[in-house]
Amino acid sequence: TQRTLVLIKPDAVRRGLVGEVLSRFEAKGLAIVAMEHRTIDAALADAHYAEHVEKDFYPPLRDFVTSGPLVSLVLEGDEAVDVVRAINGATDGRKAAPGTIRGDLSLSNRENLVHGSDSPVSAQREIALWFPSL
Ligand code: ATP
Repeated sequence: TQRTLVLIKPDAVRRGLVGEVLSRFEAKGLAIVAMEHRTIDAALADAHYAEHVEKDFYPPLRDFVTSGPLVSLVLEGDEAVDVVRAINGATDGRKAAPGTIRGDLSLSNRENLVHGSDSPVSAQREIALWFPSL
């Protein structure tokens, strides 16, 4: 079994899609190990997106992820990292396949509703960052 860090981003919270998004993960059979609703500061955004902080798209991304409450969670299950990324769909909601969260519900490259760790190593780093008590 494996754990992964998921964010239900501020656009999903604003649009009232937390339940819709969560239900897809739950219906798949993933277990919720930890969950928190909060508004993050720029320092946590920068630490989470350390690999992107120098990129052109990062300043608006930082503004977006700190713009309001999000839901952070740790999900657990067999191959949870890849399973969550498949459920989330491609980064750009305009290109993501129908049936995925982004493909069904997002029309944006930035406001794409969810985050999922991209590897088991990233998952370990991100879980320690968001849920230090785990
Ligand atoms: P995530 O890490 O959030 O699950 P991802 O792995 O599919 O998404 P990354 O390439 O790691 O995508 O980018 C992280 C986030 O940065 C994306 O989810 C999106 O919100 C934003 N982003 C990525 N590329 C762009 C871009 N070209 N323009 C605007 N925002 C972008």
